[in-house]
Amino acid sequence: MIEMQDVWKTYTNGTHALQGVSVKIDRNEFVYVVGPSGAGKSTFMKLIYREEVPTKGQISVNGFNIGKLQQRKIPYVRRNIGVIFQDFRLLPRLTVSENIAFAMEVIEAPKKLIRKRVPEVLELVGLKNKGNREPSQLSGGEQQRVAIARAIVNNPSVIIADEPTGNLDPETSWGIMQLLDEINFRGTTIVMATHNKDIVNTMRKRVIAIEHGKIVRDQMRGEYGYDF
Ligand code: ADP
Ligand code: ADP
Repeated sequence: MIEMQDVWKTYTNGTHALQGVSVKIDRNEFVYVVGPSGAGKSTFMKLIYREEVPTKGQISVNGFNIGKLQQRKIPYVRRNIGVIFQDFRLLPRLTVSENIAFAMEVIEAPKKLIRKRVPEVLELVGLKNKGNREPSQLSGGEQQRVAIARAIVNNPSVIIADEPTGNLDPETSWGIMQLLDEINFRGTTIVMATHNKDIVNTMRKRVIAIEHGKIVRDQMRGEYGYDF
């Protein structure tokens, strides 16, 4: 479902962030992306959700060649990919429910569906009674749950998570991991960049290691493999 063939990414300042990456990720996989800071992990993820385009090579997501995607088709691809960040990126002046509804409004979902779907995802992420709060009234772990609710509300086939536990304490991180595992179990592919050694070594899922813009390791039931 996600396939890269000899993908290169050079930023306009000349930084070679990815250098000849080829990889296949199947439907329903859960993949950890590990490696040192500056290795190219975020770039790898940004190419999948088309925040960046490759300098060379091909990327397909669900059969769409997203490097060459026509502008008008970008929304179709984006709605099929939910993204989660280390810093949550919620809209501060909106309530929790409004943050989630917003993701449906931008794809022009019918109002009736929004009213039905928002409480469903709130319940799924364990925030049934917090829909009327503002993000600032929630803990970090709760804010990340809102971000996850927003990422899954349109039923994407893929979730991209860039260090989703990076700002959370270990116990809260485990709660977030359980939620992502549950979402994966329900049929969503997850690609997650992380520096969380404990989580990677306990969950034993596929691990792709990137160093200096290249995939240097790709293991099923892999390990974190670094001391940082
Ligand atoms: P993370 O890897 O935690 O997602 P970022 O992607 O924000 O972090 O940044 C990773 C590295 O890339 C950092 O060293 C940062 O300084 C650098 N970086 C990010 N954006 C830019 C940019 N626009 N120009 C130059 N360097 C950048
Ligand atoms: P990681 O997520 O593993 O920390 P990144 O993909 O963020 O790595 O960065 C890979 C390399 O590309 C780093 O050298 C970083 O500084 C650089 N980089 C990232 N984003 C930009 C950008 N927008 N412009 C220029 N350089 C960037």
